[in-house]
Amino acid sequence: MDRGGLLGRTNACKIVKNDKKSGLFHAYLLLDKDEKYLRETLKFFAKLILCDKDGCGDCRVCRLLEKENFADAVFFPKNGDKILTDDVNALIEDSYIKPLEGDKKLYVVAGAHNMPAPAQNKLLKTLEEPPENVVILLGATNAYALLPTVRSRVKTLEIPPFTEREIAEELKTICPDGEKLALAAACGDGTLGRAEELYGDEQLEKLFDLAADIVVNMNSSRDVLKYSALLLKNKERLSDIFAIASSLFRDMLAQAEGGAVIDARALKKVRGAANFNAGALIYALEKTEEAEKRASAYNANETMLAEWWLFAILEGKHIWQK
Ligand SMILES: [Zn+2]
Repeated sequence: MDRGGLLGRTNACKIVKNDKKSGLFHAYLLLDKDEKYLRETLKFFAKLILCDKDGCGDCRVCRLLEKENFADAVFFPKNGDKILTDDVNALIEDSYIKPLEGDKKLYVVAGAHNMPAPAQNKLLKTLEEPPENVVILLGATNAYALLPTVRSRVKTLEIPPFTEREIAEELKTICPDGEKLALAAACGDGTLGRAEELYGDEQLEKLFDLAADIVVNMNSSRDVLKYSALLLKNKERLSDIFAIASSLFRDMLAQAEGGAVIDARALKKVRGAANFNAGALIYALEKTEEAEKRASAYNANETMLAEWWLFAILEGKHIWQK
């Protein structure tokens, strides 16, 4: 996979390139929903920041960074996937040691969304006033897992959701079945990692059809009963259904706003949903993203959540009626 091509076209990449000319910020927060590839994405940005040729991939610095072995770049967490207060202490202590090879030191913190509040608090002062020539790069799937005080001290870079075509193109060598890949890309929530996981999932077609059916045909409170029963038959896949519905709403919205041309197989299925206008779509998308978050909470009540979501879609259609 050449994820570098995709990442290289992002606005986040342009921002960092410009900052290199005008002076890098002392702390960045990279937001990427793709948890599976978050550390790899951070590595791409580490190369961009430290390599003289904007992350060429071939030079000594890039090759060492690829192995997380470059003396002036430290990657966290060291073990496992959780940042601990010990990691933060190590980072702070190390940041006072001068760079060995180049003119700056870089600290990469993957999974910052898993950082406990005390560890975040500990990091605050360093984020605000790091020693000279230190750059801190935090990576998180979700900004809201970070304290507002942390968020206000970093410059945020965002990796946007990728289109189905970009995802399919990227994954085709490891996911050779074109039909299955197209479906996985449509359900992958704009990320490579999720699409890769869903590739070959036997249930996926069924879940996709249910999500599309709800998006198109949820029109009355009687439908709520029917669809909540169907959702509960798949209650262990509820968060996947929400993620698929989010992608559908996002695609429909892009189309309604005449935005980027998207190549959604999904759109063929939901073309009948003409009773949504842009306002209702934005509303439905917000509620669906909220449902996604609530579904992943440890104490989610599936019945209540399913009904809440269905009513929210209905409500949006009424509020924003043409
Ligand atoms: Zn290089």
